[in-house]
Amino acid sequence: MGKSAELIALEEKYGAHNYHPLPVVLEKGEGIYVWDIDGKKYFDFLSAYSAVNQGHCHPRIIKALKDQAEKLTLTSRAFYNAELGKYEKFITELFGFDKVLPMNTGAEAVETALKIARKWGYEKKEIPAGEAIIVVCKDNFHGRTTTIISFSNDEDARKNFNPYTSGFEAVEYNDVEALKQLFADKADKICGFLVEPIQGEAGVNVPSEGYLKACEELCKQHNVLFIADEIQTGIARTGKMLAIDHENIDADVLILGKAVSGGAYPVSAVLANDEVMNVIKPGQHGSTYGGNPLAAAVAMEALQVVLDEKLADNSEKLGQIFRAEITKMAEEFPLFKSVRGKGLLNAILINDTPESETAWNFCVAMKDNGLLAKPTHGNIIRFAPPLVMNEEQLNECLAIIRKTAEEFQK
Ligand SMILES: *Cc1c(COP(=O)(O)O)cnc(C)c1O
Repeated sequence: MGKSAELIALEEKYGAHNYHPLPVVLEKGEGIYVWDIDGKKYFDFLSAYSAVNQGHCHPRIIKALKDQAEKLTLTSRAFYNAELGKYEKFITELFGFDKVLPMNTGAEAVETALKIARKWGYEKKEIPAGEAIIVVCKDNFHGRTTTIISFSNDEDARKNFNPYTSGFEAVEYNDVEALKQLFADKADKICGFLVEPIQGEAGVNVPSEGYLKACEELCKQHNVLFIADEIQTGIARTGKMLAIDHENIDADVLILGKAVSGGAYPVSAVLANDEVMNVIKPGQHGSTYGGNPLAAAVAMEALQVVLDEKLADNSEKLGQIFRAEITKMAEEFPLFKSVRGKGLLNAILINDTPESETAWNFCVAMKDNGLLAKPTHGNIIRFAPPLVMNEEQLNECLAIIRKTAEEFQK
């Protein structure tokens, strides 16, 4: 058995089968590239679901990680630490909020936002006890906790994990009228509207222009918190620092994760202004690792890298090129139906049923040609490379995609 088959067998035998990875074993990463254990080099077009927007093992982020790791890693929030306050000032000023609540994973940050919204609903909006509603969108993905999957409509994510948490109502995504109707009926009990500015896991669903702005206005009108889950779309991924910046939206609650730390350490955050955040008092929420000095130091550097390297502008520019080229390919190759996305968060729709193996097989073929991407929801392939790519490298990648499509036609 080859080394890579051996390592795959280990994961199969000793690890829970909660993922279905492409058959490639990676051991090294640098910038936009990863290498497998046989030394074969690949373009990474997943970027760990947009957690490594700054590129793999960014030297500045790794230096911040190492320096802080040698000084102090964890104190718990029972004490103050020398990094947290600096980070809190930095991230709140960067995104324009009064306060941040630091957590570790995306799902935890979503849970935090839901708890804040409910508490605000009872204590500020005066919703009758026990009746608060949070509105979510169909086909959402917000993480894997019991509460979060309670308002998912993905059978795989939900089935047999019941009983579910109540207090959520789903509306169609990209349907202002549906939200308007629900608010007209129940706004007195609604404390929050939780939305992904682009639905990532659902297959890079980009809403119509103006949708998010209209939702923001409805929220203002009905005193409902607009809660933006930018865990995947944020940190320059879609061509702006935040995806809601495309429509100049001020979220009441902003949820960040993934690329906040550039892939070096789990860091997530919930941002809000005092009127909302101050509903949380000591003892009411927390996390042992949340806000630890290692996380704070890493996140500060990772965010500064995004600014210094102007990754949002680069993402915008390369995204235009990517979609233009794939649109041309879609005219040539019946395999490609269309391409959609914003900045460097894009998806190619494959011309086959969601149940078919075509998208998976195409990803395996791209892997053999040196490019790693993964299907999401059957016949959709997400393309989300690190944002530190340049135009020449993108053209190399487009050539690989073209070559794979040509081979696939045969
Ligand atoms: C990845 C993701 C999450 C969950 O983050 P984890 O760190 O995996 O818990 C939540 N919301 C969105 C939009 C995501 O893409």
